[in-house]
Amino acid sequence: MNAAASSSFVLKAHLLWWDDDPYFHGHATQHSVPKGAMAIGEDGRIAWVGEADALPEAFGAWPSVDRHDTLVLPGFIDAHLHFPQSGIIGAYGTDLLDWLDTYTFPEESRFGDRVHAASIAATFADALLYYGVTSACVFSTIHPAALEELAAAFDARGMGLVSGKTAMDRNAIPTLQDSAQSAYDESKALIEALEPRYERFDYAVTPRFAITSTEAQLEVCGALHAEFPQTRMQTHINESAREIQTVAQLFPNDASYLDVYDRFGLVTDRALFAHGIHTTPAEMTRMAQAGASVVHCPTSNTFLGSGLFNPGANREAGVNIGIGCDIGGGTHFSPFVTMQEAYKVARFHDQSLRAAETYYWHTLGNARVMKTHTDTGSLSAGKWADFVVLRDPINDPIAALRLERVETDEQRLFAYQFFAPRVETWTRGVQRTTPPAHRRPHLKTTPARRT
Ligand SMILES: [Zn+2]
Repeated sequence: MNAAASSSFVLKAHLLWWDDDPYFHGHATQHSVPKGAMAIGEDGRIAWVGEADALPEAFGAWPSVDRHDTLVLPGFIDAHLHFPQSGIIGAYGTDLLDWLDTYTFPEESRFGDRVHAASIAATFADALLYYGVTSACVFSTIHPAALEELAAAFDARGMGLVSGKTAMDRNAIPTLQDSAQSAYDESKALIEALEPRYERFDYAVTPRFAITSTEAQLEVCGALHAEFPQTRMQTHINESAREIQTVAQLFPNDASYLDVYDRFGLVTDRALFAHGIHTTPAEMTRMAQAGASVVHCPTSNTFLGSGLFNPGANREAGVNIGIGCDIGGGTHFSPFVTMQEAYKVARFHDQSLRAAETYYWHTLGNARVMKTHTDTGSLSAGKWADFVVLRDPINDPIAALRLERVETDEQRLFAYQFFAPRVETWTRGVQRTTPPAHRRPHLKTTPARRT
């Protein structure tokens, strides 16, 4: 069930999207239609897209929604973030493992309270929409109620959700531990209850990471992933040096961190591994062979000092790459901030990500790693009408200086990563947010002093 129903209309705007990875397949993957039209049906899906002049007669009588002087892109997709960590962004700490113990685990243990979970889920979903994110692959907590509330919040806003109950049965505070058996039973019950209830919900088997799951629990996670072949699998890998050492101590017989997951059937083409900063060449080869994906989370990696992800090495090995904000290790919900940080991190490897590459990751690329690409990620007929309307920032003289020097779509998109545009967000053909009139504080010019 979806709260607001779409009515059919034709959006007229400058439309821009990618239908494949521009890094591998070049500029032809980018579709830019300055005088474009997109017909959106009552079912919330794109019925037709192309030049406004070529709009078929069948859509001629549909009401028109005019968004000239804007750029319309597919809604952004975030492939890795944690909804229960919304309240601990930017909490002072040291490295990953300390940060988890000090802030994350106590915060997450509150989510057994359904009222609390529902309140944070609503704030979280609204924040994503505000920044232009229309679907996401999200970590919840061990509590079934938290996932139920998250799924309801996304559905009410027409958003797509890939998520699952987190499984963790050791190395955390007692209030944040389940067991192998309860992880299996509760996950199965949630798959059977939520997937039929919500059209845009897909279950992800979710062992937090190897440190917090026993072998018995990883085994049931693998069993669930195999028993329900539609499920995704999400976890963390190779984020920090201390984490990798701990995994090696806990699993002394496995040759690598990835081997731990592989032994339990968790390395598949439906698997999303967050971070992958310190992944070895052998692990990359295995991920590529399995069709598994890594999710780059740059603001989290620099905030926690975890390391610098290498896009080129993963691409060369053939690993699919997604991108995420990893709230609350990450520091901002905005895809523009995440893309900016990805650019900076890549520079440490002497690589320069073009705007087309980062925006592709944040749209169709993420849809592909989440296996939702037949439904979202580009402005293509048949997909959900999830899109963002982007306008230049206002009341920002420095942004104006920068943007008046822009000559191409690519340059404008690149600059937006540093001077975020005002965003209007639509899901399933329904407008969900109104861009703020004043995004940035008005800067007054200091009057010249008379002497
Ligand atoms: Zn994470």
